[in-house]
Amino acid sequence: MQSKRAKIIATLGPASEKKEVMVKLIEAGADVFRLNFSHGTHEDHLQRIAMINEINDELGTNVSILQDLQGPKIRIGKMENGEAEIQPGQQLIIGTEDIMGTNERVSTTYKPLATDVVPGDLILVDDGKIQLKVVSSDGKEVTTEVVHGGMLKSRKGINLPNTAISAPSLTEKDREDLEFGLEHDVQWVALSFVRNAKDITELRDIIKSKGKTTKIIAKIEKPEAVAEIDGIIEATDAIMVARGDLGVEVLMEDVPMIQKRIVSKCNKLGKPVIIATQMLESMIENPRPTRAEANDVANSILDGADTVMLSAESASGSFPVESVQAMAKCIMSIEDSCSVVFNKFWEDNQSETAKNDMLVKSACQLSKSVGAKAIIGMTKSGYTAFSLAKNRPEAGIFIFTSDRQLLKTMNLVWGVTGFYYEEQKPIDETFDEVVNILKAKGLMESGDVYIHTASMPLHWQAHTNMMKLDVVK
Ligand code: PEP
Repeated sequence: MQSKRAKIIATLGPASEKKEVMVKLIEAGADVFRLNFSHGTHEDHLQRIAMINEINDELGTNVSILQDLQGPKIRIGKMENGEAEIQPGQQLIIGTEDIMGTNERVSTTYKPLATDVVPGDLILVDDGKIQLKVVSSDGKEVTTEVVHGGMLKSRKGINLPNTAISAPSLTEKDREDLEFGLEHDVQWVALSFVRNAKDITELRDIIKSKGKTTKIIAKIEKPEAVAEIDGIIEATDAIMVARGDLGVEVLMEDVPMIQKRIVSKCNKLGKPVIIATQMLESMIENPRPTRAEANDVANSILDGADTVMLSAESASGSFPVESVQAMAKCIMSIEDSCSVVFNKFWEDNQSETAKNDMLVKSACQLSKSVGAKAIIGMTKSGYTAFSLAKNRPEAGIFIFTSDRQLLKTMNLVWGVTGFYYEEQKPIDETFDEVVNILKAKGLMESGDVYIHTASMPLHWQAHTNMMKLDVVK
């Protein structure tokens, strides 16, 4: 039976790191596990990676691992007694000296703060709940006036929506975490607070220098990234609309249109796009989502998202499994009832690789005309899988490869189900065998029409250059 086509990322944390919970998350529809490197030690993450690998081996699944690097996240330092109340109109000094904060003076983890800001800049604390305006800076300390006050708590995040940050996107901590992730063969690495395409190229160079093919997700959460979005989409393998920080750094009312524009650009170029943060936020405490949250998931799928993500809902909430179940139901309801998510035959450009894309598009168009049940692809690089997904065929996308790492990578991509296949046999035998594998798994049956795409001769392992229409015997 065909399962949901859009994919789900579940963030792991204290609520979901036990093996039995992880298995339930996968059974409920989780396709990717996200390890958030803003929290936890390498030891914690290593245990989770080992557990995911063990489960994949035991269940024969291809659940993907996404390493989310913290990036230059700026925070308030520690506060005396954990918190202090600040009032609108008062002054608050932020310095880099490591002191215990009070309601008059606090510290920050971001050393260049006092040289980066200028008078008039906004400093938003704790997701914008507390708003400060820069009055002056002497290069060491920043004097601010409190616009919106509240309880200022230890280690809360700071956003600087109008300030050009001088810190690099890839911090020292990120470099160390990346080395750890690459060593343990994560399939995807997400870079936080990306500002331009150069940030992605720098990360790609490090990945290449370690001899890895790990794919990159650019997290869009700064106004600079929104302005540079075309270059970033071109440079990256996938995009995450990281609405948590984005919604603080830009006007919250601008986020819906930014989301729609980014999804549409990614869809046209066949780059997977993830919608993240607060999708089912109330499920951190409740077993059912609000109507608005169910709508948010559904609308993101209608926009064209490949993947939707759970953060605290699955990492630290009381209902991690129910959250994945609810998300899967919202996705399937749209996919069962709404044809607009399927058959997106974008205009291609005329480059050499686009010729292969056009063949893949023709296969998808043909699958619609003949009501094919499946499009089967053989791939070495994964290119065919990404290219098929771009066209959003209603037919199942079944991809065969001998690369186990790639099988997991593709698990994040819309509609793609991967299978391990390593025999090097004549093409007719290979085609018969893979159809038999799909029959044995109950994904196809006698009489089903299907399309086979491949690159001939198979051993050349080039981009797709043929298609064959057939009926299951
Ligand atoms: C976000 O800000 O929306 C996001 C996904 O990033 P993080 O959860 O790492 O803050």
